[in-house]
Amino acid sequence: MKQNYLRIKKGAINSVETTLRINNISGKILYIPDTYVDSLYGAIVRPQIEAIGQIKEQTVENNTIAYAMEVAERVIATDVDCIVSMGGGKTLDVAKYAAFISKRPFLSIPTTMAHDGIVSPIAVLKREDGKPKSLGCAMPTMMIMDTGLIASCPSHLIKAGIGDTISNYMALKDWDFAVSRGKDEMNGYAYMMSRTSLDALMKTQFDRLCPEFLEVLANSLVLSGIAMDYAGSSRPVSGSEHLFSHALDYYCEKQNLHGFNVALGTVAVLKIIGEDPAPVVSYLKKFEVDINPKHMEITEDTFVYCMQHATEMRNNRYTYLHEADLNEDKLRRIYQELVEEL
Ligand SMILES: [Zn+2]
Repeated sequence: MKQNYLRIKKGAINSVETTLRINNISGKILYIPDTYVDSLYGAIVRPQIEAIGQIKEQTVENNTIAYAMEVAERVIATDVDCIVSMGGGKTLDVAKYAAFISKRPFLSIPTTMAHDGIVSPIAVLKREDGKPKSLGCAMPTMMIMDTGLIASCPSHLIKAGIGDTISNYMALKDWDFAVSRGKDEMNGYAYMMSRTSLDALMKTQFDRLCPEFLEVLANSLVLSGIAMDYAGSSRPVSGSEHLFSHALDYYCEKQNLHGFNVALGTVAVLKIIGEDPAPVVSYLKKFEVDINPKHMEITEDTFVYCMQHATEMRNNRYTYLHEADLNEDKLRRIYQELVEEL
């Protein structure tokens, strides 16, 4: 019988073998690591896979849809029984999508916490023209997050994860708003999970990136992922701030981490709709999450353009931005405020 298995703990990297064993995995196991991460931790993971079955390896050359399909095809053609992947979002998304297409169990070992996509039922892969596309798939069957190991990754990758979780603040407001306008349906359980993910982070007693805080963040990211899975869409964790971020993906020359884009979007949209962003801003400052648009190399013109075109980024996602006053002078004023205050 297949079981969902989740382990968030310092030292969890040592439980790869146990996890695979509990899930009755055997036979051929395709190991898809990020090359750099593999050079650090591969020596710990490989022997554990080898204790279970025959290891096959695949390095991720790029993160296009076509490439992920190619991996899936190889998995099917060569009778691979299970996929294990270790690394950041790009590597994991290729593996996650390949596992989904080939219908194989998937053990995900994220080594960063940069966004809630690491646990979500969504893979972001590149289209032929290089632009990102979100594809629905399945949550990882098994997941191991070693907070000790993640603590040693560059801190901006953790801070971006804080930004992505904080964006639930705006996403939930947008969801309420859309429902009040008759433009979307409510899913109370998914709403609560997203809210709990946000609250766990906002109300944490920790004020620095210590291992205990990383556990809170990891739990929050997982809860956000489950909220998406339960709702059957990214609605619980993605509102106007994500639309703004998607616009930046398309139109901003400098590509910043997703978590910073959506956190900036959260603060900016709150200002646009006349709500006080202070609770969000002070929280981000406490953890030194820098989302000053100047530091992110987002120009005033790009900011205005992306805010005005955000609602075009996807259908069926009604938000405050669909009714807000987005006149140029107002947006330019808000940009200046953000530069001064963040
Ligand atoms: Zn996000």
